[in-house]
Amino acid sequence: MIKQFIANSGILIAGFYLISKFFPSNIHKQSPFHMRLFAGAFCGLLSIVLMFFSIPLGHGVIADLRHVPLIVVSYYGGMPSALTAGIIMGAGRFLFGNTFASIVSFFISLAIAIGCGLISRWMKRNIAVTTFWMNVYSMCFISFALFINIPDRHMYTETLFVFWPVSFFATYIAANICKDIRQSKDLLQHYKAWATTDFLTGLYNVRQFHTVLNEKMAQVKQQNSCLALILFDIDRFKSVNDVYGHDGGDVILRHLGELIRSLVPKNALAFRNGGEEFSILFTSCEHEAVTFAEHVRTTIERHPFVVQKQTVHITVSIGISLFPTLATNETELFKQADIALYEAKQQGRNRTVVYKKGTLA
Ligand code: GH3
Ligand code: MG
Ligand code: MG
Repeated sequence: MIKQFIANSGILIAGFYLISKFFPSNIHKQSPFHMRLFAGAFCGLLSIVLMFFSIPLGHGVIADLRHVPLIVVSYYGGMPSALTAGIIMGAGRFLFGNTFASIVSFFISLAIAIGCGLISRWMKRNIAVTTFWMNVYSMCFISFALFINIPDRHMYTETLFVFWPVSFFATYIAANICKDIRQSKDLLQHYKAWATTDFLTGLYNVRQFHTVLNEKMAQVKQQNSCLALILFDIDRFKSVNDVYGHDGGDVILRHLGELIRSLVPKNALAFRNGGEEFSILFTSCEHEAVTFAEHVRTTIERHPFVVQKQTVHITVSIGISLFPTLATNETELFKQADIALYEAKQQGRNRTVVYKKGTLA
């Protein structure tokens, strides 16, 4: 019997690994409702798989670790996950015989699901402690069900003697595997964001700028549309730093990042290219790009930035270049936007200049 329970634990652990890999992000109580239902459904299906490898105890009674996926998913997904897993697990038991034991098992599954859902809501402890108590709760119900269904008292005692410790062991291992996979997923997401995002403004960083620029240019070529590079630089930012210090300057940069994020439409992406220089890649042609750039410029001009309890106003100068109408490659596009930006500074700042072939350079 011990061997069969250990085999059941192996399937359980492999199943958990596969389910965790299937979900792109970690399930928790703030996850969208349908994701919590999905997680519950997957764990319910894993419970059914476990029943295929269950230990027959006679009189249509089977024992296995089907309650463990329910316990773990309840911990992370709360009541919606618990109930979904419980209903699937209870209904799935009828695949293995339409017996009295199946009916008892169905109601026991529901009781375990409701109990684990409630424990998950009320108990604010770590996974090891919470799943331990969920296990105690579940095993009491399972022991009761086995008591009703196994008339041979010797067999009943022997089953419980093995079942209880194996159940705790399997839950502990499954919970820890989930915890490990979740931690590595979190770390991966964190590093991905770190590699592509500017830490101060939350905008994409210069590395991502070059990646996205190449992708966008290929897209635009295929779709026969245009791509505008809107490059802008804060006017006389040195004097802001002189008055409010470097930290004060950083506060403005951070708020400017938020403001830019709130302005960019779906078909545009914003970047901090370095220092106080920003850019927006906008899938549009000249007229739309200039209108949008002017909207960005005037919004920044009017925005009251608060630094050290004082209101500060800043302006930006903007240079625009377009692919493929003006530039034919990435280097040219950036160089032309930079030249147009320089021209905007030369013309007195706080304005938008579109690169014109021949007239600038
Ligand atoms: P203009 O662009 O209008 O010609 O004048 P400017 O004073 O902005 O001149 P410039 O662009 O050459 O100078 C950029 C200044 O921005 C210099 C530097 O101290 C400041 N700066 C660059 N990066 C940061 C940063 O991360 N934080 C802060 N606080 N300041 C920065
Ligand atoms: Mg500047
Ligand atoms: Mg600059």
